[in-house]
Amino acid sequence: MIVIVGAGLAGLACATALQRQGKPFLLLDAADAPGGRLRTSHRDGFTLDHGFQVVLSSYSAVAKVVDIPALKPRYFESGALLAHGGRLTHLANPLRHPHALVEDLTTTAFSLRDKLLLGALVTRTVMSSDSLLLARCARRDDLSTQDFLRRFGFSAFFVSRFAQPFFGGVLLDGDLGTSAGLFLYYLKKFSTGRAWLPAGGIAAFPAQMASALPSNSLRLRTRVMALDIKNERACGVTLKNGEHIAASSIVLALDEPTVCQLLERPSPERARSVAVVYFKSRQSIYPNPCLVLPESGSGLVRHFAQVTNVAPEFAPRGFHLITASVLGFSDLSDESLAHAVKMEIAAIFPNASASLEYLETIRVPYAVPAQPPRFANRKPFPNLPTGVFAAGDWASGASIQSAISSGLDSAHSILNPLYP
Ligand SMILES: Cc1cc2nc3c(=O)[nH]c(=O)nc-3n(C[C@H](O)[C@H](O)[C@H](O)COP(=O)(O)OP(=O)(O)OC[C@H]3O[C@@H](n4cnc5c(N)ncnc54)[C@H](O)[C@@H]3O)c2cc1C
Repeated sequence: MIVIVGAGLAGLACATALQRQGKPFLLLDAADAPGGRLRTSHRDGFTLDHGFQVVLSSYSAVAKVVDIPALKPRYFESGALLAHGGRLTHLANPLRHPHALVEDLTTTAFSLRDKLLLGALVTRTVMSSDSLLLARCARRDDLSTQDFLRRFGFSAFFVSRFAQPFFGGVLLDGDLGTSAGLFLYYLKKFSTGRAWLPAGGIAAFPAQMASALPSNSLRLRTRVMALDIKNERACGVTLKNGEHIAASSIVLALDEPTVCQLLERPSPERARSVAVVYFKSRQSIYPNPCLVLPESGSGLVRHFAQVTNVAPEFAPRGFHLITASVLGFSDLSDESLAHAVKMEIAAIFPNASASLEYLETIRVPYAVPAQPPRFANRKPFPNLPTGVFAAGDWASGASIQSAISSGLDSAHSILNPLYP
């Protein structure tokens, strides 16, 4: 029997690949729903994702595991509204909207030099393969994104008005201390693809994957407490209720701290956290189907969106839904945080002050692992016991794409064994 521990995207992708090859497996998850960090709550007709997460059309792994049209993708416009010094500037992606090039070149958010540098950098990343960009995350000369942007010649305005709000939100790292290799990879993915959300919320994505698996192959509310290893070889897992399940292969498709715990190895030190604050409104606060990026350093909110501009299904008829992301784990109470966030949104769109009604705050303590320069150089789990495989987003840059790819890779390793 193959036991997969963890029904997040990595575990679901592994299960999907095994099922296609007719290999029986058992997929175990401690939570009450599959999907791991892709979670959605539904409240009074509102769809509340646990953290602002988007799928990119440039993620090649996605079409391998889901039927994209069946998820009814709702696409964001490729670009953003930059709020700076009391002004609002629209920045479009000229690769997707060539007619916007002139508008972008004349934007006042940052200098012509910055725009030309950005054009040169985008061209460079688009010409590079994904694997080459990600390989940089292991190179000795990898830098933090912040240092890379400075050395490349970008101005402080470019960093605070675009790079920090946008990529700080993507990497969940407001200081841009994350590996420049990962930044360049995302720059390519956002330049060449469009961000989308399933009409049913982000959790509809893993739900579709889970629904395609045999019903008796997925056990929820089932926490694995230990691995049963004999003579350096996998022989099963022990559950929280004391039950033992025999297994010839075990896939640990888990977040990095839990893999460390089960392998009795030291835990990684840091992870990125985020809080997302939701408001409803009867009045639209802006019309564009894109994110709004407040200038970095001016407050708590890294980015916000009237998400119903993209996915009207996220709110009941007559309402709009606004989502705002605050990086880190704010010490403020939910009410104080909501008040501060509302004031920041109202500083950009004054009608928000009267129209936004607080809905809910969702805090995600473990969002993605810290990914500093050269993070991919370390091999987190060398010398695994025979028959044990480890998968997850920590393997090569946390993302929906990397979680799926690592799950598919572990299925491939099981189906094409190198060990006797
Ligand atoms: C707020 C936020 C925003 C993000 N934004 C984006 C984005 O816009 N685009 C993007 O590409 N990526 C984004 N990501 C990253 C992406 O969601 C993750 O990289 C990916 O979902 C990780 O999948 P995984 O399968 O590796 O791990 P997980 O989703 O963490 O799955 C691990 C599973 O293991 C289970 N588990 C844990 N311990 C046990 C145990 N002992 N026994 C049994 N089961 C156990 C958990 O319940 C969970 O279901 C974001 C993540 C967050 C949280």
